[in-house]
This record gives sequence, C-alpha cells and structure tokens, in this order.
Amino acid sequence: MTPFSLIFKEQIPLNDHSVVIRFQVDSKAPFVAIAGQFVRLHMQQDDGFDTFRSYSIANIFPSEKCELTEIEIAMTWVKGGLATRILSEMQPGDRLEASGPYGRFCLLPDHHQRYFLIATGTGVTPYRAMLNELKNRLDAGSEVYVVMGAQDAPGLLYEEDFRAVEKAYENFHYIPCLSRRQRDEAALNDRMGYVQKFLAEQSFDADSDIAYLCGNPDMVDESFALLKDKGLPITLIKREKYVSPPVKKK
Ligand SMILES: Cc1cc2nc3c(=O)[nH]c(=O)nc-3n(C[C@H](O)[C@H](O)[C@H](O)COP(=O)(O)OP(=O)(O)OC[C@H]3O[C@@H](n4cnc5c(N)ncnc54)[C@H](O)[C@@H]3O)c2cc1C
Repeated sequence: MTPFSLIFKEQIPLNDHSVVIRFQVDSKAPFVAIAGQFVRLHMQQDDGFDTFRSYSIANIFPSEKCELTEIEIAMTWVKGGLATRILSEMQPGDRLEASGPYGRFCLLPDHHQRYFLIATGTGVTPYRAMLNELKNRLDAGSEVYVVMGAQDAPGLLYEEDFRAVEKAYENFHYIPCLSRRQRDEAALNDRMGYVQKFLAEQSFDADSDIAYLCGNPDMVDESFALLKDKGLPITLIKREKYVSPPVKKK
C-alpha cells in the first residue's frame, strides 16, 4: 500500500471525550476508498519502534467508492494512549504519514432485505460513510436498522446525520441504546441497556438479513455469539473490532 501524508486541518469536539479530526490528503496517486474502509496513521512508540493506529474514514461518501481529498475521523481519547497524545497535540499544517485504505467492512454488492448496522462509540462512523449507498438500498426497498450503543446521549455520535435519513425514509430506523443515562425527554426508538439487549429481543432470518458489528471488542464478540445463536450464518455477520496493535518490544 503506497504511503501518503495527511495534513492536519482542524479538531472539533463531539463530546467531552471524542473529537472529529479533519485532514487534507497529500498523495501522489488519487486516494480512492470504499465506504467502510479505514486508514492507518503511522507513528513511533516512545522507544522509537514504528507502529500505527487505525481509524475508520468518517466522511459521508458521495458514492460507495470515490476519491477523497479530505479525510475525517472520529476519535475517542484514551488515557495514556500514544495516538491520543500525538493527535491531540497536532496543529494546523502538521503532517502525519498514513497508509490505506484498508478493510472489507463494506456493503456487499448483493442487496439484502434487512441490514442491521450495530455500533458502539466511534464504531458508528463506517455506517455514516455508507449513508448514500444505504439510501440507494432503501430506495430499492431494503430495511436498515442502525443500532447505536452509548453510555448517554452525548455519546450518540453523528446522531443528526442518521436522524435526517430516518426523517426521509420510513424503512430506516435509528435505535439508540443508552446504557448509563437516559435522556430527560426520550427520543424516537430510545432504548435502555446495551445493544446486545436489543439484539436479544429480535429474530433474524438467514435468507434475508445481514449484520455488521463495529467498535468495542466485547460488544462485537458478544453480539456475534448472539446473532450466531439466533441463526445468522457467520458469513452474514461482518465484524470490525477497534483495538490497537500489540506494543513492540526489543
Ligand atoms: C480497523 C480499526 C478501525 C478503528 N477505527 C477507530 C476510529 O474510527 N476511532 C477511534 O477512536 N478508534 C478507532 N480504532 C482504535 C484505534 O486504532 C486505537 O486503538 C485507539 O485510538 C487507541 O489508540 P491510542 O494510541 O490512543 O491508545 P493505546 O496506546 O493503543 O492504548 C493505551 C492504553 O489504553 C488501552 N485502550 C486502548 N483502547 C482503549 C479503549 N477504547 N478504551 C479503554 N482503554 C483502551 C490499551 O489497552 C492501553 O493499555 C480502530 C481500530 C481498528 C483496528
């Protein structure tokens, strides 16, 4: 994968522990990606070893596969984290080496009758990237459920983008699952508890459904087991776990 540079443009708070970061892409070849893919940001450990951190591309893609000249990521700060420190200190104009796009967490060419797009935290960003292609599938009659887990309402990242699609399509459903604090005034489809609780209450059909799981590794593992028990074949359960690579040691 040919490396390229990202030039830091701005950082915008999403809530008290997550931000949007926007970069300009500086690449010799056009940077072409498919909605759902991620980039690797290259950095060095404090002992000098090269390492990287991965981030899903959060842009709403104009079409499923397209050239991007700017990349947006949503990042949750992690106490003591390497990327957290490096990215939080970046100033406009600073450069970071990157590579990609990587990943197969993308919509399959076959259309399914029902899409369950399940996330926690910044794991919702691949689904934001897919919104325009999802509209094509909604137009073709598919039903889409974005099941979003967060501790409280400020954790429902990009809620307004999903709500806008929900307003326009009666076959699109945004299901916020709030695990710690409910809203003072409940919003449409608000649920209490983890996304797993919502999934446990549903039935799935191996002939017509597909599920995507993205974000917290425990949520991904537990939801995967649940969906499998409920009869979804593993080929129809796509997963992306948000983890860091192991620390390199001498
Ligand atoms: C394909 C892929 C896509 C990803 N996309 C995103 C994305 O869009 N947005 C995003 O924010 N992250 C994303 N991640 C996770 C990201 O790559 C980093 O793992 C994360 O940002 C933490 O990096 P760090 O260097 O700040 O912390 P690290 O230096 O990796 O971690 C510091 C310490 O915190 C612990 N830790 C790491 N992550 C967490 C956590 N979430 N909660 C609590 N403790 C933790 C580690 O075990 C370690 O002890 C993605 C990961 C993958 C594999």
